Amino acid sequence: MHTTSTDTAVQKMDRLNLRPALDFIATHGDIYEGFVHDLMTLPSVAINAVDEFTTLDEHLVGDSVHVTGDEALEIFSRLPASFQKLSMLQNINYHFARMIPVPIFEEGGEWKEAVEIVEESKFPREAANDHPHRILIGRCDGTMIYPSALPVCVHDSVRVRWMYQLHVMLHEFFHTIEFLRRDSAIAQKIILRSGANLYTFHDWWHKWEDLFRTPLRPLCPTRYAQTYVDALTAETPQGEFTRALAEQVCESFVGYVMGIVPNDEDDTSFKHHSPEAWELMNELATSEVIEVG
Ligand SMILES: [Zn+2]
Repeated sequence: MHTTSTDTAVQKMDRLNLRPALDFIATHGDIYEGFVHDLMTLPSVAINAVDEFTTLDEHLVGDSVHVTGDEALEIFSRLPASFQKLSMLQNINYHFARMIPVPIFEEGGEWKEAVEIVEESKFPREAANDHPHRILIGRCDGTMIYPSALPVCVHDSVRVRWMYQLHVMLHEFFHTIEFLRRDSAIAQKIILRSGANLYTFHDWWHKWEDLFRTPLRPLCPTRYAQTYVDALTAETPQGEFTRALAEQVCESFVGYVMGIVPNDEDDTSFKHHSPEAWELMNELATSEVIEVG
């Protein structure tokens, strides 16, 4: 899918259609299962935030499909140490576990980040003419991850939905690394070491800016990341550009960890699909955290 400003209203609204991502996971389910299997053979070593995070309102999950707090711990504790050390995660808050943020579109199909919160059991609402596949999922404020519902109307396989919830959980986990460090003064205080080379989180982030601000920027790592493609230009105000860039970075993190992420090119290898993004993520994954600021 090429997203350009000449997209029709339906094409613009369909940027938030989750169904193709779930179809991608269903088609390549064996690769996803292989990732989970291989990850679980790694030693579990929970450090720093991953060792200490708690869950809130987990009873609200009920029979909704979610990555539980225990499952999140199993997964996060097998991530490279640098990611765990950099995370500022404090809680996974399941308050919205059975709620869906439904995007509110403008007349031309533009989504300006407004949402309506709808109960999973009432979605899609006939009266509101909800599209059954156009929903948002998951949120993070830098220390708290708020999972939200992925209803059966998006995909009827529980396992496929769980895999996408895992994708979202990992995406939000990277927000716990980057969100509160968007201020360059803070990012400059985080020192990392790769071999003999010392660098800051700011230096690393700057490489992402260079990668995605050029006219020759690479493909967005996932279909979801492409939602933000219009903001990845040199003319975009800094704050908006950073928000759009962060989505590229968080999706790249998921691609790096899982090895596979949904894309419209049907490429089952994130490393092959987005080699520059893989390289930057690998740099952070293999670095030593010297100072967290
Ligand atoms: Zn995000």
